[in-house]
Amino acid sequence: MPQKDLSPTKSSKSATPKPSAPATGMATPVQFVKGVGPRLGSVLRSREIETVKDLVYFFPRAYQDRTHFAEAANLEDGVIATLRVNVLSQRRIPTQRGKSILEVRCSDGTSPLSLKWFHTPYGLEKKLLPGAQIVATGKVKHFQGRPEIVHPEISFGVGAATPTPLLQVRDGANAPLETSETSQDDPNVGRIIPVYIEIEGVPSRTLRKVLWEALDKYGLFLEEDLPLYLLKRHGLPVIGQAVRALHFPPDDLVSSIQDLVEFKTPAHRRLIYGEFFKFEFLMLRKRLQIESVGAPPFTSYQRDTPEQAERSSRWNALLNKLPFELTRGQQQAIQEILEDFNQPYPMSRLVQGDVGSGKTIVALLAAAWISERGGQSVLMAPTEILAEQHLKSAQRIFGDSLKVALLTGKSTTAERNQLQKRLSSGEPLLLIGTHAVIEDAVVFSNLALVMIDEQHRFGVEQRRLLRRKGLKKDETGTKLILPHSLILTATPIPRTLALTAFGDLSVTTIRELPKGRSPIFTRVVRNYADRNRAYEKIREELQSGRQAYFIYPLINESEAEGFTELKNAVAEAETLANEVFPEFRVGLLHGEMRPEEKAKVMAEFKEGKVKVLVSTTVVEVGVDVPNATVMVIEHAERFGLSQLHQLRGRVGRAQWQSYCFLFAQQRSSSVTAQRLEVLEETHDGFLIAEADLKIRGPGEFLGTRQAGGLAFLIADLVRDQEWVFKAREDVIEMMKKDPELKTEEHRTLRRYLEREGLIQSDRLQTA
Ligand code: ADP
Ligand code: MG
Repeated sequence: MPQKDLSPTKSSKSATPKPSAPATGMATPVQFVKGVGPRLGSVLRSREIETVKDLVYFFPRAYQDRTHFAEAANLEDGVIATLRVNVLSQRRIPTQRGKSILEVRCSDGTSPLSLKWFHTPYGLEKKLLPGAQIVATGKVKHFQGRPEIVHPEISFGVGAATPTPLLQVRDGANAPLETSETSQDDPNVGRIIPVYIEIEGVPSRTLRKVLWEALDKYGLFLEEDLPLYLLKRHGLPVIGQAVRALHFPPDDLVSSIQDLVEFKTPAHRRLIYGEFFKFEFLMLRKRLQIESVGAPPFTSYQRDTPEQAERSSRWNALLNKLPFELTRGQQQAIQEILEDFNQPYPMSRLVQGDVGSGKTIVALLAAAWISERGGQSVLMAPTEILAEQHLKSAQRIFGDSLKVALLTGKSTTAERNQLQKRLSSGEPLLLIGTHAVIEDAVVFSNLALVMIDEQHRFGVEQRRLLRRKGLKKDETGTKLILPHSLILTATPIPRTLALTAFGDLSVTTIRELPKGRSPIFTRVVRNYADRNRAYEKIREELQSGRQAYFIYPLINESEAEGFTELKNAVAEAETLANEVFPEFRVGLLHGEMRPEEKAKVMAEFKEGKVKVLVSTTVVEVGVDVPNATVMVIEHAERFGLSQLHQLRGRVGRAQWQSYCFLFAQQRSSSVTAQRLEVLEETHDGFLIAEADLKIRGPGEFLGTRQAGGLAFLIADLVRDQEWVFKAREDVIEMMKKDPELKTEEHRTLRRYLEREGLIQSDRLQTA
């Protein structure tokens, strides 16, 4: 299959580069391509299309089937048709504003057809004289019973007018059109043609022509860099053939225009596979690099010394003192972490577990292990509220057996100085804080473990900076040491994403929730009557001593620009307090409040003084108030399913039955609105995540900035899932066989990576 010639022109003229072709091949500036004048050149450059390579990687947005001519007598309104016609007559129809419309009447022998131009391209009139044979393509409309096409695309001098029936796209039974000599060299006729995004008024037709030229002249320089045995394994064409076929699908693809539109041709798959392959390669390589770095001291467990034995017994005592029994998933997670600690290289592990699965204790135990051996740890959380909560949990659970300190934006200079003293003295401290812990001023003396809670709230860069705080040389001065890294996320991540975004990490999944949690009763509420019933249910809960959250997408009206129908937290807090629940205390919490105000409201809610907490999504991450049993989300259709699931996870944290009401616009048409019912049916974060990935894409899971790092040119993590797995397996196999890419079959790949600077440069880009 890869050997088949898929090139657009079968002529021999592109078999050898022309002498006039600059020797720079794919790096040739685009203005050397025939048909690219100064204006088009600058338009292309404004789109970052500078070289021939950029140009040929500018892929069509859609395709049109021009392999078959339609019959003028059988045209339906709205279809895009290609007809072969003879010009019968021509006239100018004057318009009111002193301009005129050019109408050209034609026939294909079955029926007359009108072609119309409101703006006539220069010189066109003279070519469309009676008797001319042309091929016209465009959207058909009937006017006074006669089919017409406004602003058609025209090709000249193509054979005689003997039309064949219109091809139904999916019906392979119709015979394909015999293409005439002329059309073989015309990118616009007799084939499936590419449709490009119109850039700054440059029509698709022009781009087609330029791409045709570029591929004809330079296509040969598209060098394959993936190992050929892998392409063969998957039946994929080499890159040169694939790129051509994407622009000018060869005749043998005609029966599968549907595949073309759905990115399912071998050519598409070659590009998709290639993108995933290179990405996975870099991920796995990053992982190998980490494994060549040293682990910090303090961590390994040799049981044979008395000192170690004592530590072991202290560790067991610690586990026994916990206020609850660890779930199987938690035990498993800790086990995996301790095994990582025992490796000669630093851990890079992601722990994913549904909201409420108890990840905090896993992180704290990891820190306790390190601290017992004299190392320092840091736990970074995205909000002050969460950092403070972790501090309190640590103090509650471990008492004096774990030294902890807090650092947030609120910390005073005196506190900071004090903290720095402790860190510098080498005290085996767990520092808990917000991103303030990354600041340069914070210097650890023996940082052995960095942990990040709610990782999707942070960028890759922040993670890297945090880890680098523990970068140093080992005692011999020759080997680099990096701290262990543990990343926590409450959003279960679909497997394709885990393999791409976190392909360099080991993944632990905590599947079960602590015992005694019953599923949260969840209802989507779309009308007034149901809303009032929900309010009554909430009142009952409040009366029996429980508490409730009300979440809004906006803080206040000024945020609502263009969304005036959206409820906002500030106004609704008033309404709830004065009208709906006047008998209960209502508190307000949002991200624009001063830290001490936030802390006060949060504390009052935790103590049960505030019964109803009105908030924006600042409570989304990690807030833990077990007495709260009601979660109400206004404008639920504005949130992602995973985010809603996270918010829902704020309740159902104790023995009481809990409730989640998703208030949604009755008429909302967004996909999310229609999928809200998924949350009524399931509490499985993984199912919800898969559904969400389809609706919203990877940004929902990774944070937009990080998802940007997964910007594939044509691959799509949802559509092309199977290819992620294939690419990953192949890369693993290849790296086992030939880790340094020294063999002949991997030579081109190695050359590519070196050329792109990908092999050397990422030495310490560990995250
Ligand atoms: P998350 O995984 O969402 O971060 P947390 O760590 O905040 O979850 O834990 C949620 C709640 O469950 C906390 O109140 C915590 O103390 C409690 N918890 C954690 N593990 C267990 C357990 N094994 N048994 C009972 N309760 C637990
Ligand atoms: Mg948490």
